[in-house]
Amino acid sequence: MGVSDRSFRTGPAAILSASAEDDGWMLLALAEAERAAAEGEVPVGAVLVLGGRLVSRARNRCEAARDATAHAELLALREGLTELGAKRLEGTTLYCTLEPCLQCCGALLLTRVERVVFGPRDPKFGGVRSLAELLDHPRANHRVAIEEGVRAEESRSLLTTFFRDLRARAKARQGDPGAASGAAPLEDDL
Ligand SMILES: [Zn+2]
Repeated sequence: MGVSDRSFRTGPAAILSASAEDDGWMLLALAEAERAAAEGEVPVGAVLVLGGRLVSRARNRCEAARDATAHAELLALREGLTELGAKRLEGTTLYCTLEPCLQCCGALLLTRVERVVFGPRDPKFGGVRSLAELLDHPRANHRVAIEEGVRAEESRSLLTTFFRDLRARAKARQGDPGAASGAAPLEDDL
């Protein structure tokens, strides 16, 4: 981490894939996801980077904010706009621990983020590959370079543990030994 040479980012997206830099930033996003879990939020984290420097970091706050749209990605983008004093986020990379949802993909396009790096896919809400392919849609006026699967196992493990614990608590409250079984982790309402 800490690559500050702007020229590192000027080549085609393909040569930037799966780098040690990506790995380092994703670890920071995962740390945000872990903080979210500790706060009782679905563990998803996001980190916005420009020219090898951290711009903003965020985690899910849907429960605390009582706002189903308070996703880590959206919060990181908004904080990034404030931090940079800009209307858009050209040249930035957003690292997210889960495939961004349809809402957050919309925000990525509107703010013209250059590149997104994410962990596992989200089959229920993902807008990059799962439900739609918004970020490299042929009719969109902006395309975002995509890298997926970075630290995917760690992210999936956080989500699995979180939802398992959630179901166990629900079961304990209900006193029903059968209540813990149910949907797969990513099928829960994110
Ligand atoms: Zn989202």
